[in-house]
Amino acid sequence: MQFGIDAEEQRRFINDVSHELRTPLTIIRGYIDLLETCGADDPELFNEAVTSIKKSAQNMQSLIESLLFLARADQGRQPLNKVPIELDELLKKFIEDYQSPRIEISKLTPCRILADGEFLKKMFAAFLDNALRYSAPDTVVEVELTTELDTATLKFIDKGIGIATEDRAKIFDRFYRIDKSRTKQFNGESSVGLGLSVAKWIADRHGIIIEVESELGAGSTFILTIPTIRSS
Ligand code: ADP
Repeated sequence: MQFGIDAEEQRRFINDVSHELRTPLTIIRGYIDLLETCGADDPELFNEAVTSIKKSAQNMQSLIESLLFLARADQGRQPLNKVPIELDELLKKFIEDYQSPRIEISKLTPCRILADGEFLKKMFAAFLDNALRYSAPDTVVEVELTTELDTATLKFIDKGIGIATEDRAKIFDRFYRIDKSRTKQFNGESSVGLGLSVAKWIADRHGIIIEVESELGAGSTFILTIPTIRSS
């Protein structure tokens, strides 16, 4: 969906955004009211309120950042600065900085690509956030980077809840979520359905093809086919 293209889409978009902003705001208002009446003297309630307010504010912030990203993208105001990058090194550093004990790099083949590193990291984050979010906390997410003749294959493999065949094409649409309750199943985090839209935009700008293999209840693998360049 491009912003402002047709009235029906615009109406649905405004409806989606309003709804996504209303939920965290309702939570914040509720806790502030509670704190005002009885919270200041109750340390347990105080801590619960601060944690929930913080989480809701983070959700709103990430929603607004994704919206601004896509708005700039739609208006052609999202310039990329592509340079030769050692993908394996970028990926390794990104995963170290991500600091999740649940992520394991199982294969890491050296390769060079032409890309904007900051955008690539944003795309990796979308796949990893989801892989962790939609799988149990005691499972591992595997990352695998291999190469062929003139392409690299990057896989994000989770052992989570999986994605039904009929949903697979739609998950890249803006605001598409399979079922809101699924997100809360594991860690109570809420999602807004924009992460994969942003990831897809970045992938398209780099000639990266995304495929999804998944089995309900067994897990999902997001497979990225990335054009490589020769190391000089
Ligand atoms: P959000 O930014 O809210 O996570 P996304 O655009 O990233 O939204 O994802 C859209 C939908 O795709 C979600 O409803 C989620 O159910 C599904 N999804 C994405 N990745 C996975 C995954 N690894 N396992 C299961 N479901 C997934």
